[in-house]
Amino acid sequence: MDLSLTPEQEATRRSVREWVDAVIAPAAIRNDREERFPEEGLEGLKRDGWIGLTIPEEYGGGGADPLTYCLVVEELGRGDANVRSILSVHLGLVAGSITRWGSEDHKREWLPKMAAGDVLGCFCLTEPDHGSDPAGLETTAVKEGDSYRINGSKIFITNGDIAGVALVMARSGGPGARGVSAFLVPCDTPGFTPKPIHGKLGLRSCDTAEIALDDVVVPASALLGGEGDGIKVALSALDDGRMSLAASCTGLAQNALEVMTSYAQQREQFGRPIAAFQLVQELISDTAVEVEAARLLTWRVADLKMRGEKFTLAASMAKYYASEACVRAANAAVQVHGGYGYVDEFVVGKLLRDARVTTLYEGTSQIQKLLIGRAVTGVSAFG
Ligand SMILES: Cc1cc2nc3c(=O)[nH]c(=O)nc-3n(C[C@H](O)[C@H](O)[C@H](O)COP(=O)(O)OP(=O)(O)OC[C@H]3O[C@@H](n4cnc5c(N)ncnc54)[C@H](O)[C@@H]3O)c2cc1C
Repeated sequence: MDLSLTPEQEATRRSVREWVDAVIAPAAIRNDREERFPEEGLEGLKRDGWIGLTIPEEYGGGGADPLTYCLVVEELGRGDANVRSILSVHLGLVAGSITRWGSEDHKREWLPKMAAGDVLGCFCLTEPDHGSDPAGLETTAVKEGDSYRINGSKIFITNGDIAGVALVMARSGGPGARGVSAFLVPCDTPGFTPKPIHGKLGLRSCDTAEIALDDVVVPASALLGGEGDGIKVALSALDDGRMSLAASCTGLAQNALEVMTSYAQQREQFGRPIAAFQLVQELISDTAVEVEAARLLTWRVADLKMRGEKFTLAASMAKYYASEACVRAANAAVQVHGGYGYVDEFVVGKLLRDARVTTLYEGTSQIQKLLIGRAVTGVSAFG
């Protein structure tokens, strides 16, 4: 794996970093406090073309390679994970699935609009009674002539209230994973009703919704992949999502490191900067090592993907490590700030709350351990 960046990758990182530092990071605390959607973030993602970054150029996107995508996502995650979430779901989970599984008609219908940011994507897998075990999902898609009628409900859907197209996993066949299919559902279809979820611990300015699907009728051409491919579509999307989430977690941990280092250099106790105390240095140096490790695990996923190799296991490892590492990093940053870390004058409390969800979604840490354990031992603990 070559760890040097190309001049284009360096320039992309610099450009997104400057925008994040000038616009995104300064707005983040207020947005969090007021549960305000980061409009300036979405506008910038569209204006600067990040919203279509990885969509193939022939459909109007940037055609960026996986490492460039990770660099952009890390910078967004460093500035505000709420803005990062919009992009990862839209590109990694939805546009990526259309690129991988879609017919030429699907691509021509959705990708140019998604590349311009005129249509955002959301990914509807989780249900109230089915999170870690999506193969048991209960939303139904009943074939009626040349269309499907979808009924059910989805929960915790990022971009759910602002998206124009939803990738919906629903049961069109018998029990288990093989009975699930994936559908591209325009969000203005009658019966598709999002309801925003408020009061989240973190990611408070991110759009998260519960979605009711009541007699949502879509043409048979809305099927993405074949009948029964729904869980495969979802799992391949999550491979990409986990790479992107690992990059975002690296960015959040990097932010925690920078903020705690700067505070430790300025804050004095016992007549010395607290950075001079070995126990404070331990918090900082442990975080510095973990940030590097998270970044390298993430870049390894991007490298495998770029070379066309399987990256499912590498993505699980990177997601698991980087998410747990960013929670530790944010917690260490609060510790270094003492009592000031407990009020939202400083960003570290928000970092801890935003970090906390990363070990829960896109497969909890327990699920990642079972996936890694199955790959290493050859024995499945899923039953
Ligand atoms: C802010 C936010 C945004 C989200 N965005 C999306 C989205 O855009 N699209 C989407 O589809 N979903 C989304 N989700 C849902 C998320 O992916 C699920 O919450 C997650 O998969 C866990 O499912 P669950 O909440 O039902 O927990 P459960 O599956 O009920 O798990 C509860 C606990 O049991 C543990 N557990 C479960 N099974 C096992 C096992 N076999 N062995 C050991 N431990 C186990 C889990 O690790 C966890 O600790 C989002 C969630 C949040 C909070």
